[in-house]
Amino acid sequence: MPSAAETIVLPGAVPGTSRQLRVFSFGEPGARPKAYIQAGLHADEPPGMMILRELCKLLAAAEESGQIVGEIILVPMANPLGVDQALNGAVMGRFELRTGINFNRAWPDFSSGLADALRKRLGDNAEENVELVRRELKRRVAALRADSPAMAQRIALARRAFDADLVVDLHSDDESLSYLMASPEQWEEAKRFAADVGVHSLQPGGGSGAICFDECFMLPWIALNKEFGDRVPVACNAFTFEMGGVLDVEPKQSARYAQGFLRYLRRIGCIAGAAPRSRNGVEEFEEFEMLDSPAGGIVLYPQALGDWVSPGDVIAEIVDPSAPDLEAPPVQIKASMKGCVVSRRLSRQVAFGDFVVMLGGHEKPKSGKQKLLMD
Ligand SMILES: [Zn+2]
Repeated sequence: MPSAAETIVLPGAVPGTSRQLRVFSFGEPGARPKAYIQAGLHADEPPGMMILRELCKLLAAAEESGQIVGEIILVPMANPLGVDQALNGAVMGRFELRTGINFNRAWPDFSSGLADALRKRLGDNAEENVELVRRELKRRVAALRADSPAMAQRIALARRAFDADLVVDLHSDDESLSYLMASPEQWEEAKRFAADVGVHSLQPGGGSGAICFDECFMLPWIALNKEFGDRVPVACNAFTFEMGGVLDVEPKQSARYAQGFLRYLRRIGCIAGAAPRSRNGVEEFEEFEMLDSPAGGIVLYPQALGDWVSPGDVIAEIVDPSAPDLEAPPVQIKASMKGCVVSRRLSRQVAFGDFVVMLGGHEKPKSGKQKLLMD
């Protein structure tokens, strides 16, 4: 166990109930660079939780040997409220059942009015300006009102993440390859990070207006940098990873990914020592085809994840097991672009209109709908 494992008690909705949030800290508080990594904000997505369990072990060893230079905060199970929600045996960890809110949407917009609030106080020294911005962000986090259990949980996470140089939020898809989502401003840094961790691909993210967890901490810096240029550098990089599908909790794979995160923490100077050169290749996808099912039934996939398909290829078949005509052909779903099978529905039962499969590639699809947030 690391020396600083903190248990935060979160209030429940009614008397006699509460939740516990566990936070692991490595290095000296206030040391730089500061990294904040969490998993399980969507509490039914366990791969990241396993990875951070492994990363905790690696960091405890690094701390033991005096290698931690910065400050590193890990929250392996960031949503104790959600992980305790279940319906008929299935964890309901994406939305708070009491209010219907998505745990990873509508985070506070700290960028609102920020430039005007700081304009008169900013000087010409970029480092001092970064400190000034962090103090203002701290004030804004402190002003948040814990008016519900979900908000109290959000504040507990935000208090630990708001001033980090690196914020990472680990999620998983349904059945999927692993990928990293990054905004255009972060693309080059994201490529290095993705290669270090060893995820399959890099995909565009951000800009949806949803204010996901990572955006909550990065958008203020992007906004200030646009307004004031080099006087306020972007002092927080924030990323959302999809660490494969919900079944991807295999310990050896989790340990490999944990080594990848450790490599990147070395690269940015949080941990002493040179980061070994990453040999992982990362695909960069700009275009996507998202396909829904035109019928209910049982879905079959001819390809494996990671296979490439061409326009016209059948990428899913929907069988109606109750069709009166025993020779009735299945309903076919075809690709309209050359693409890689990146993610798809885990359950082999589909309803009319359900999402079925997503292709990633480099050419615009001729059909399908706009890429949705897949976290
Ligand atoms: Zn998620």
